[in-house]
Amino acid sequence: MNIHEYQAKDILKRYGVRIQEGIVADTPDKAVEVARELNIKTGTKWFVVKAQIHAGGRGKGGGVKLAKNYEDVREKSGQILGMQLVTHQTGPEGKKVHKVLISEDVYYPGASEPKEFYLAILMDRTKGCNVIMASTEGGMDIEEVAAHSPEKIIKEWIDPRVGLQGFQARKIAFALGLEGDAFKEMVKFVSSLYKAYIDTDASQFEINPVLKTSDNKILAVDAKVNLDDNALFRHPDLAEMRDILEEDPLEVEAGHFNLNYVKLDGNIGCMVNGAGLAMATMDLIKLSGGEPANFLDVGGGANAKTVEAGFRIILKDPNVKAILINIFGGIVRCDRVATGIVEAYKAIGNIPVPIVVRLQGTNAEEGAKIIDESGLQVHSAVQLKDAADRLKDVLKGV
Ligand code: GDP
Ligand code: MN
Repeated sequence: MNIHEYQAKDILKRYGVRIQEGIVADTPDKAVEVARELNIKTGTKWFVVKAQIHAGGRGKGGGVKLAKNYEDVREKSGQILGMQLVTHQTGPEGKKVHKVLISEDVYYPGASEPKEFYLAILMDRTKGCNVIMASTEGGMDIEEVAAHSPEKIIKEWIDPRVGLQGFQARKIAFALGLEGDAFKEMVKFVSSLYKAYIDTDASQFEINPVLKTSDNKILAVDAKVNLDDNALFRHPDLAEMRDILEEDPLEVEAGHFNLNYVKLDGNIGCMVNGAGLAMATMDLIKLSGGEPANFLDVGGGANAKTVEAGFRIILKDPNVKAILINIFGGIVRCDRVATGIVEAYKAIGNIPVPIVVRLQGTNAEEGAKIIDESGLQVHSAVQLKDAADRLKDVLKGV
């Protein structure tokens, strides 16, 4: 589960990680109100207005703006709130901004220049342990750094039996070229951040940039936090941070029916039981000359209700020109699935696209018979090859 920057910073603060302070607002008036509050709390005279969406690269897209007085806060918030923010992570349609984080300005002048770093914690699956990645090239796209100067990314793997050791945090601070107070602050920053990562069952923390201020404080200017969905039951307070406005509406609806649905860009909707079979079915669609419009795993216990819900969700995608249903009757019997498909078809009424159904496994023949005798615009197939051929025929007519 992704969360917003302001929520991520709340978590970090709880663990003693220093952050760029800020308060969230959803109208320009409220933005000015919280800016005044922030001025009292931190003394800041300038403010940063930051769009809260689940995507990075906001600055480049016009979603992060510096405001030098309260009227400026109102104006910049007015520009950002409600905008359709396009970044390299949102896709061309962008994401609508519902909230802004009004933050203190931390790039103030002082004894030294402010300096940006990169810090991330994630699971390294090949090594089977967490890794802390750090770089002096903060504020930049880390993929760029990885591609052009990989030597500027340092990695520290954490042994799960003993956790992060003091010498490792010091090694990172040293590699980032820090000394004195900034060095000590970075050691504390890394240690607290790692504790937050472990305690929240996170799967990714990315702090870009981590800032060394002109007076040698180390703080998180940005925070991207990804929490492990499978551990959310242990963290009801974190689960509440979910913002469904940020999620694909069809995926949210599928979740209500316990369907694993991921929307894709193609034209062939598909409904399959089992994730592996679903992947193979998507390959089949491609081999037949189509492009999958989605991934949809209805799970082991497919019945008329789940099939109907799946149908309805697939049909809400305007790109869908045909549907392929591929069910293997292992636990579930094919005749029951076939009955479910026919019932769902009748319940939905006029389905405007052709459907190919491939049933295999227990009672496959009976299932095909039910489909063929239903009198509906459904083509049945028993073998995968038949399904592909049927799909090719159907695609010719599309
Ligand atoms: P992102 O573009 O989505 O990664 O958003 P960030 O939170 O990383 O902010 C983008 C950029 O805005 C940072 O890299 C900074 O250069 C700039 N920025 C953020 N906070 C401040 C601030 O307090 N003062 C100034 N002057 N610039 C800031
Ligand atoms: Mn950033």
